[in-house]
Amino acid sequence: MEFANTIKETLQASTESANRGGGKGDGSKGAYWCHDCAERIRDVDVEGETPPDCPDCGVAMEFERSPSTTGCAC
Ligand SMILES: [Zn+2]
Repeated sequence: MEFANTIKETLQASTESANRGGGKGDGSKGAYWCHDCAERIRDVDVEGETPPDCPDCGVAMEFERSPSTTGCAC
């Protein structure tokens, strides 16, 4: 199964590099937050639709849509 593993690694590598597109156009619609800990995980870093648990306190994190990334909010 060495061949299959090589393909898998190649796919993962290309996926990772695709995610580093400079912050825009990476498919992110928002992020999961734990408001107590101010812990944040981007949705593109989470597999599936299930909200992850906060790595600090273990509470299910809350999804928050990010506002438009076009333009500065300052
Ligand atoms: Zn937390």
